[in-house]
Amino acid sequence: MTSPKATAARKGRLTPAMAKRESKPKKRQRTAEILQRLEEEYPDACCALEHRTPLQLLVATILSAQCTDKRVNMVTPALFERFPDAASYAAAEMAELEEMVRSTGFYRNKAKSLQGLGQALQSDYDGEVPATMKELASLPGVGRKTANVVLGNAFGIDDGVVVDTHVGRLSNRLGLTEQKNPVKIESDLMALVPKGDWTLWAHLLIFHGREVCKARKPACADCVLVDLCPSAEI
Ligand code: SF4
Repeated sequence: MTSPKATAARKGRLTPAMAKRESKPKKRQRTAEILQRLEEEYPDACCALEHRTPLQLLVATILSAQCTDKRVNMVTPALFERFPDAASYAAAEMAELEEMVRSTGFYRNKAKSLQGLGQALQSDYDGEVPATMKELASLPGVGRKTANVVLGNAFGIDDGVVVDTHVGRLSNRLGLTEQKNPVKIESDLMALVPKGDWTLWAHLLIFHGREVCKARKPACADCVLVDLCPSAEI
């Protein structure tokens, strides 16, 4: 039996051709509607990486590369206790650091980044995490995505849009970008999503990507965006 959501969507459905022809103002309007619906659907959407300080979030985000947030959250309590500040990462024994982050994968590179991060913070920023994109992105193991996570969630600064695998996949499926490169996707999203909502946008798309619009099998018939999405399969 077809769900009521799917039936309703079929009537006013957005086709891929329509999304391609869509004007910028219309696309912005649709983006605003997507944002509003997802906010209603996920009122508690937030950063899933547990942290109390900018440094903890920076470390957790570095560890989250190619790893689930759940796994990172299992590793970080002991790590944060053993390495409470930049100085302790700078002086860390590599073997110990590697062992503590091993289960997050790519542990040699990650441990090296954390030690390098501690050293850079100690030498250039008095042990504090800087709050600008330029400074953050110059730190070892920190790219634009990690810098955006820290700026948005630890400092409340919307400097860009976090583009992880979920944000990239959903933004493409929703016809808001045709790009595959995260930096280009980010640029398209920054032109569509209101600046004050950039951090929230990523949280909402990540939640929706985990719950409904999954990589292999999107549950379009249960999706609140079904009539706004050119990729809906119903
Ligand atoms: S679940 Fe389907 S309808 Fe919803 S955003 Fe993903 S592809 Fe579009």
